[in-house]
Amino acid sequence: MIVADQKPIEEILQMLEPYKRVLFLGCQSCVAVCMAGGEKEVGLLASAVRLARKQQGRPIEITEGAVKRQCDDEFNEPWAKTIEQQEAVLSLACGVGVNKLSERFDLPILPALNTKFFGEVERQGIWTEVCAGCGNCILHMTGGICPIARCAKNLLNGPCGGVRADGTCEVSRNGPRPCAWVLIYERLGKLNRRQNMENLFAAKDWSSDRHGGPRQRIREDMLL
Ligand code: SF4
Ligand code: SF4
Repeated sequence: MIVADQKPIEEILQMLEPYKRVLFLGCQSCVAVCMAGGEKEVGLLASAVRLARKQQGRPIEITEGAVKRQCDDEFNEPWAKTIEQQEAVLSLACGVGVNKLSERFDLPILPALNTKFFGEVERQGIWTEVCAGCGNCILHMTGGICPIARCAKNLLNGPCGGVRADGTCEVSRNGPRPCAWVLIYERLGKLNRRQNMENLFAAKDWSSDRHGGPRQRIREDMLL
């Protein structure tokens, strides 16, 4: 799922500074699961903003709502009339939802969240990036563990010299993390597929990754 964090309240208040009538619109999919932008977070954020603006002597009228998926017009459309009556919308969806509303409506759509990555639930309260959406998956060769997302250097042919004796990576953002290639080696052993380690990947064709600009998926059979 897409993992996001709520922006600091100071930044949100600054974005809302020019407006007195705003819809706070959440999304009940990924960002609700990671507790950043669902219905509950809309309510909590709206209360905090109302209070802060009242204390500033500049009250704000906030309408609260949440849609099933903000990245899809179908779910946003029932909110069209309400949106058109606002000075701005504060979106608690990921960046895709903000883009979607901005394409459809001629008013400022403000992002309440910082969109982070595709993540799995590692355990309660911890989400970890495990896929970087490269567009050309090799997980069948690596035992279902992605070296692009999990190796700090995106290495495709085994570990670098920075793997520590305890199997952790020398690059550490949030404390020691296992080296992706140690995980892959162990996993391939369990699957009886360690011979996959002998396969050398050619230099990756990154044309399916996002560096060539925005990507699209077109299903001709679904077009109307
Ligand atoms: S190889 Fe690409 S698509 Fe597959 S998990 Fe890794 S980043 Fe995601
Ligand atoms: S130690 Fe492992 S995970 Fe870390 S950069 Fe080297 S190969 Fe990648």
